[in-house]
Amino acid sequence: MVHANTESHQSPAVDDMPPLALSVVVPCFNEEGNIAELERRVASACRAVAGDSYEIVLVNDGSKDGTWAAILCAAEEGPNIIGVDLSRNHGHQLALSAGLSMAGGARIFIVDADLQDPPELLADMMKLMDEGADVVYGQRLGRPGDSGLRKSAASVFYRLLRYLSDVDIPLDTGDFRLMNRRVLDALLAMPEHHRFIRGMIGWVGFKQVPLQYERSERTEGETSYTLSRLISFAIDGITGFSIRPLRLVTYTGLVTAMLSALYAFYIFIVWFIHGEPVAGWPSLMAVVLLLGGVQMIFLGLIGEYVGRVFQEVKGRPLFVISEVVTSDTSEPGG
Ligand code: UDP
Ligand code: MG
Repeated sequence: MVHANTESHQSPAVDDMPPLALSVVVPCFNEEGNIAELERRVASACRAVAGDSYEIVLVNDGSKDGTWAAILCAAEEGPNIIGVDLSRNHGHQLALSAGLSMAGGARIFIVDADLQDPPELLADMMKLMDEGADVVYGQRLGRPGDSGLRKSAASVFYRLLRYLSDVDIPLDTGDFRLMNRRVLDALLAMPEHHRFIRGMIGWVGFKQVPLQYERSERTEGETSYTLSRLISFAIDGITGFSIRPLRLVTYTGLVTAMLSALYAFYIFIVWFIHGEPVAGWPSLMAVVLLLGGVQMIFLGLIGEYVGRVFQEVKGRPLFVISEVVTSDTSEPGG
């Protein structure tokens, strides 16, 4: 039995119930072929560690295929499902944020819908958390299915990000992780729109522990991260965690100013000794064009930060939910 609610998934009786042990949050975009298998594997991983005290939040991020129908079907057939339908495609990080905002469990597990990250690792993550970790993040040993170029781009990006930012963002991680309530509450208190959630969780701090694993290939469908989406995700990561690129602009300006002062001095000496100015239209053009180009790049860089300020000050909500559906477990056999 499915129960639909357009405002909030929390029923009035929720205060009387014991708190949930575990919430699983899964953002889904064009994943119709994965939902049934995902639900089966995630539910059995949850039952193994939390009995019946869990919920699976499946967020449909404006999919173009039958993903929402598959989620409705999962909620109809299985227990403990919360389906969240967003009003349109908001992107991976916002869909995930929508799901996290609905999670009511004491521990929160994030997993992708494509089963690249095995939900069975939940048991190991729970164990590490019992030993005192606040966050257990999956650290990839390999990236099968990714091309060589993608792998090296990812590796360069994570190392650059680590170098640029003051936050300890672990290498080779995705959003696949388990966190506890205090980490989630800190994360939900961050209002920013350009979200780079793995970095934001690193920023929160507390005790963060890695769990290494082999990443598998997508079971169905294709990655929705095209090259341009990956680049803008990388820019979000860098601009969201560091203003060192702006300092680079200042340093470049200082170095250029010093070099041009030296050069002006040289021109003066040549004129003083030989009595005629240094000739050279080509060198002049080269310098003018080079500096023009560098200035435009740096203006663009500053613009990236200014544009983000503009988008943040508007203070719009992060996402719009169109419908929430829960499997009604209170009915026998439901
Ligand atoms: N996803 C989403 N909205 C989007 C793009 C992706 O909710 O606009 C979901 C997708 O369904 C998957 C997860 O985000 O569960 C990661 O996406 P994907 O597998 O395409 O990324 P990759 O694993 O290739 O980095
Ligand atoms: Mg994937």
